Amino acid sequence: MSEIQKMRKKAKKKKDKININKIEKKGALTRKKRMRNAIIVVFLVMSLIIGRIAWIQFVDGDRLKYMAYVQHTLDRKINPKRGTIYDATGEKVLAVSATVRTITVNPVNIAKNDKEKVARALSDIFDVDYETTLKKVSKRSSIETIARKVDKEQSDELMKWMEDNNILTGINVDEDTKRYYPYNNLASQIIGFCGSDNQGLNGIEALYDSKLKGETGKIIKITDAKGNTILKEGEDYESAIDGDSLVLTVDATIQGIAEKYLEEACIDNQCTDGGSVIIMNPNNGDILAMAGYPNYNLNEPYTINDTELESNWDNMSQEDKSNALQQMWRIRAISDGYEPGSTFKLITSSAALEEGITDTDNKGEFNCSGSIEIAGVRIKCWRYYRPHGSQSLREALMNSCNPVFISIGQKLGVHTYYSYLEKFGFLSKTGVDLPGEAGSIFLAEDKVGPVELRNDFFWAKI
Ligand SMILES: [Zn+2]
Repeated sequence: MSEIQKMRKKAKKKKDKININKIEKKGALTRKKRMRNAIIVVFLVMSLIIGRIAWIQFVDGDRLKYMAYVQHTLDRKINPKRGTIYDATGEKVLAVSATVRTITVNPVNIAKNDKEKVARALSDIFDVDYETTLKKVSKRSSIETIARKVDKEQSDELMKWMEDNNILTGINVDEDTKRYYPYNNLASQIIGFCGSDNQGLNGIEALYDSKLKGETGKIIKITDAKGNTILKEGEDYESAIDGDSLVLTVDATIQGIAEKYLEEACIDNQCTDGGSVIIMNPNNGDILAMAGYPNYNLNEPYTINDTELESNWDNMSQEDKSNALQQMWRIRAISDGYEPGSTFKLITSSAALEEGITDTDNKGEFNCSGSIEIAGVRIKCWRYYRPHGSQSLREALMNSCNPVFISIGQKLGVHTYYSYLEKFGFLSKTGVDLPGEAGSIFLAEDKVGPVELRNDFFWAKI
């Protein structure tokens, strides 16, 4: 080997060494870089996971918890039996809840292959739309209502079908209640009716809803994602608490008589605004009857009772329909104002007797000349053409003679008179046990001047 060759070899070796070093250095660099990248990636992934956990835990937790609850528990309500409403005798039932059934499905518990079959059976038995039922049965929800308040025969038919077809899960037949009013129209406005969830919507049903409704119970099933029951005991019951019953002061017999004659009177006299009758026990204020005409059938509260409106019902706007029904449902006897007219002479008389201004039978105490002057205006007696002449208070009441009561009122004075209005309770509501009582309409005492006294025959016909 020549010297040059040796050197070349050396150089080559050296070069290789250098090259190897270079390669090694390069390799070390790449590893570092890789590790750094890996750490970054791991860090990013970890951050993402932690972020996601935080999001699930703190931001989205409630929603997910609810979703899991819905998925794992297939709970159904047990409706309590609403209290009964009795008349004053305690024997006649004015409102009662009958047991009916509500049909629900748990779609996740119905096998895919059975869905169409189940939907077909449900739509046939309960006369509901097949397509809608199929949608409900195929939904990814925990519970869907198919039919409410169905009678026993229908639910028995369904249960038989379930047995025959060996489909025993996913369809529930639960007890529910339906309100029934045995006397249909009797005392309709004061009793009121209930909505589809058995909640009182009108009258006593609404006012005493919290007492009548009771407390809803539950059937709870804890299931896994496939809808299989997890709880060993199967279903966990939270039983419903039935509502309290009510006994009214209203006597169904007296109410019936009042309604019969009110209706006759309204028809005979063509009372287009309807009419009201209240019958009270004067010893304790108990309301024995409160009749309103026209009334409606409590078992069909959304059927209008007016033939004219009924014939045009389909063309009416929702608002007009709602107003018409509200008019039909309201208790006229307590929500409408009505000018008492000459009946108020009794109040003026009572105040005058109590104040010792007059007595019942002082012969010739008063004189009707056919008119009386107030604040420069002559007010006529209704029998101005043949004046009543000399009268006692009793006679003046019998004759409903306006001039006598105007003169008594003037003796009483506005302030004393108003103190009696207040004592009689005319300036406040009666607080009757019914919803929708309107207040009275009286001028404020300080607004009553000579002109007001002159108008409306203040003392005689308030
Ligand atoms: Zn007179």
